[in-house]
Amino acid sequence: MDTMQLYNSMSHKKEPFKTHEPGKVSLYTCGPTVYHFAHIGNLRSYIMEDVLEKALRWEGYDVLRVMNITDVGHLSSDADTGEDKMVKGAQREHKSVMEIAQFYTDAFFDDCAKLNIKTPDVVQPATGMIEEYIKVITKLIDTGYAYLAGGNVYFDTSKLKRYYIFNDHDAEDLQSGVREGVEEDVNKRNKNDFVLWFTKSKFEDQALKWDSPWGEGYPGWHIECSCISMKYCGEYLDLHCGGVDNAFPHHTNEIAQSESYLGHEWCPHWFHVHHLNTDSGKMSKSKGEFLTVSLLEQKGYDPLCYRLFCLQSHYRKGLTFSWENLDNAAGTYEKLLKRVAALSQEGKSDDGEMKPYLEKFQAALDNDLNTSLAITALYDVLKADISDASKRALIASFDTVLGLKLLEKASILKEKETAAPTAESDPAIDALIAARAQAKADKNWAEADRIRDELKAQGIELIDTKEGTTWKRV
Ligand code: AMP
Ligand code: ZN
Repeated sequence: MDTMQLYNSMSHKKEPFKTHEPGKVSLYTCGPTVYHFAHIGNLRSYIMEDVLEKALRWEGYDVLRVMNITDVGHLSSDADTGEDKMVKGAQREHKSVMEIAQFYTDAFFDDCAKLNIKTPDVVQPATGMIEEYIKVITKLIDTGYAYLAGGNVYFDTSKLKRYYIFNDHDAEDLQSGVREGVEEDVNKRNKNDFVLWFTKSKFEDQALKWDSPWGEGYPGWHIECSCISMKYCGEYLDLHCGGVDNAFPHHTNEIAQSESYLGHEWCPHWFHVHHLNTDSGKMSKSKGEFLTVSLLEQKGYDPLCYRLFCLQSHYRKGLTFSWENLDNAAGTYEKLLKRVAALSQEGKSDDGEMKPYLEKFQAALDNDLNTSLAITALYDVLKADISDASKRALIASFDTVLGLKLLEKASILKEKETAAPTAESDPAIDALIAARAQAKADKNWAEADRIRDELKAQGIELIDTKEGTTWKRV
């Protein structure tokens, strides 16, 4: 504990990860917008965040992880224009917003389970927190950080000493006005101002609306994450995660609201996962590119191959998906399982011989969550001159972070290979089995036994069942 160096997108450097309270980590993750299936790009972010959480637990921290589910307020443009993504999704499927929210939330957690991503300690749908948004927005208005214009409530970015946290933007960018190419919202005093509460929008059929002091309406996307985080993690958040596309404007706006509301610094450490790309750039839901976990399964891949594929590269580098790359990861996974399956189940592990390998694994995690080095540490264990029992204990420990189900899948593999009758067919063996069946029918027990022994000498064990005789290699 307290040895991890983690890159912080706020300071733009690797730095020691520190917590507000010793030994405890409050960790917030931006959750999915549930208007469609998650694609494997979204899931790259959730896999790497899962590894981060598990690494912190492995190092001994007591972690509280909170995630929102965006079921209202995320518009099709980050500039507060366009339609609510949820409403668009409901129209596409001729269902209600709440129906599609429930359906895609369940689908998201099914995918997470297949990828062995742990469900966060708290999962909070955004629609369940309306009172919190009203409380926080009311205070922001009272303290002069927010204003009413044209029926909506906006955050006033000119009130901040520093608005841009993660990126250096042009000075010109800071001027009042609106960005070129983005639909003008004449109510905004400054171009980066953003909506906290909508009562008026260009579309009238917003399905979900709630009463508020500013009229019937619904919350903006950014306020959801600030309020959900503050409600469950308190005034001081240790670590905030998300895909790198969330840094601006979403996380920038979260910081603006939360710190203006609290009156002090809110979250000192930001962890951003870089994108999964295809040949045509970032994999994105709105572009309609749908490489889903179900599709991987339909094509015969174990979803954990995709998890391994993600772990093989660093979270701060773009990762390009191709079927060839996934095939390579699938081959690696299979070989890994075979090597684990070959380890003996006998004996007792030895702490002394395990220690250097645990240290090497920890060094990989401490080095800005270097998962590919962590996998190298796993191979070092497999090659090591230590007992199989120690190897198995090390693999079990590493896998609480890697999440590849190595021991479980390896024992399934072993069971398939040994216990179950083989699916292999071998004409010579089949001929001997037929000859033995004939000998038995002829009551020539000596010949039947001789054939059994002949096969046994070749390492073939016969299994007689009601349906007939099968065999396995022993
Ligand atoms: P969304 O469901 O669109 O709100 O996105 C859910 C999460 O996936 C967010 O943290 C995004 O930043 C992240 N994300 C979106 N596209 C990608 C991608 N191509 N690669 C990695 N993460 C992504
Ligand atoms: Zn968020």
